Amino acid sequence: TKNEMQIQFTAVSENEAFARIAVAAFVTPLNPTLEEIADIKTAVSEAVTNAIIHGYDGMTGKEQNQVYIHCLLNRDVLQVEVIDEGKGIEDVEKAMEPMYTTKPDMDRSGMGFAFMEAFMDELEVISEPGQGTTVLMSK
Ligand code: ATP
Ligand code: MG
Repeated sequence: TKNEMQIQFTAVSENEAFARIAVAAFVTPLNPTLEEIADIKTAVSEAVTNAIIHGYDGMTGKEQNQVYIHCLLNRDVLQVEVIDEGKGIEDVEKAMEPMYTTKPDMDRSGMGFAFMEAFMDELEVISEPGQGTTVLMSK
């Protein structure tokens, strides 16, 4: 059986906790283990944080900056898409390398994508400079 959920929220850090809890709540009917829930929350957090701090980096008119999450449950597989309409990523392959960060000054460690990769079973990043970024994960 399939189940689907979509949320949209303003790209501000106050919404990071909301986003990871919403996705965790969505998968609760599947009786996931605490570890599975923790993994999903971490991965969603990393993707949403990236959308807010990198995707919409330096963009004015904050209320217009939206993050979208689409979740799809197909049997016991969760698919999560985290989408921003921000600046996009020039070189996705490079951005996904562990310890690569464009904000070393702000004590970023460049481990966000590495965590998403480690905690989820699949990770795909689709990005177009000037258009935005979609992070597709499944577990
Ligand atoms: P950390 O996640 O450890 O705090 P980080 O965010 O820099 O540090 P990653 O999450 O691995 O590390 O992301 C690597 C780089 O990819 C970022 O520094 C940024 O340049 C780019 N990036 C990631 N997500 C986005 C996005 N949604 N929009 C634009 N650029 C992004
Ligand atoms: Mg990050």
